[in-house]
Amino acid sequence: MTELLYYTDAYISRFTATVLSCESAGNAWRVVLDKTAFFPESGGQSADTGMIATSRVTDAKIKDGVVYHITDSPVTVGEVCDCSLDFEERFAKMQCHTAEHIISGLIHTHFGYDNVGFHLGGEDVTLDISAPLDRKELDFIEELANRAVFENIHVVTEELFGDAVKTRAYRSKLDFSDADSVRVVTVPGYDACACCAPHVSHSGEIGIIKLLDFCSYKGGVRIHMAAGSRALADYRKRYTAVAAISASLSAPQCEVAEAVCQTVKRLSDAEYKLKEQELIFARALAEALTYTAENRVEYLPMLTLASLREFSNFAAAKTGGILVALTGSEGDYKYVIYSKNRNLSELSGKINAALNGKGGGRGEMLQGSFSSKLFEIKDFFEKL
Ligand SMILES: [Zn+2]
Repeated sequence: MTELLYYTDAYISRFTATVLSCESAGNAWRVVLDKTAFFPESGGQSADTGMIATSRVTDAKIKDGVVYHITDSPVTVGEVCDCSLDFEERFAKMQCHTAEHIISGLIHTHFGYDNVGFHLGGEDVTLDISAPLDRKELDFIEELANRAVFENIHVVTEELFGDAVKTRAYRSKLDFSDADSVRVVTVPGYDACACCAPHVSHSGEIGIIKLLDFCSYKGGVRIHMAAGSRALADYRKRYTAVAAISASLSAPQCEVAEAVCQTVKRLSDAEYKLKEQELIFARALAEALTYTAENRVEYLPMLTLASLREFSNFAAAKTGGILVALTGSEGDYKYVIYSKNRNLSELSGKINAALNGKGGGRGEMLQGSFSSKLFEIKDFFEKL
């Protein structure tokens, strides 16, 4: 069994250890040391990374009490190595993990719901709660959790033995009633929970705790959260976004939501008016046409497909043969074809085959696209 240094001291970032084994595993190596401060992936928390001598540790797993360090190159068995953790990253995880305990403890105390899932990865932190919570309830929990931070409470990590395993009150996803011992992390006044991971020693080290997005998940709720340095990074990212919106809308930062709503409304009103004007314009173009008994091809690149349909409705009355209204550009013309006198359903296949087209329709109207040239389209309908 590997001696777990992080179990008794979460702040060990450098240590020396003897290499007990080193096995090749695909493109990587699996290294076992006599002792380690690397936290292996477990309980929803991803593994620590760092160095063993000159080998990079990319992952660590635990099986039957033995920690397997996954490295990018081999190390010599029997050698005493200097080892180091990427401690900035590890400390960020300690901040998030202790914060998660406080949040879960508060939710349990105030609502009676359980934490049924936890993920603490390289970027995202999520916790799954057994029943739904709304934003107001989460704000209430967030407020109390940050109060626990301001109180700078000593976080107690202890191993319980014998009767204490059964008699002490603590949250746990696993059943420890038959266990000889259990490691419990307590934030006095807020939470006690069975846990094997490293935690900060005082709640003040967590820094800010922020509950971010949440969504329904398996009958309960999944909460995305950030704490400490990750919360600061998140705040910076959001600040940058808000500052950019504020500058482009010339609105104070705290009023950007209202400014965006107003801008979106103005834009949607303008789009509605523009569509109306386009239809009026399309009708005017159609009404300006003089009657012809022949087929007619009208190329109107300034019209949208909707206004092209409007144009065709009115232009059909000025056309004895087939009316072909086109928009778009060379190689991708959108067409609306209208005729009151010719059977377009029968002609559809012939038209598309001749002009490399796609589309169809029924009765008086066809709609689709041609990937041929304008003169070819005009030529074809002149002879049809
Ligand atoms: Zn935990």
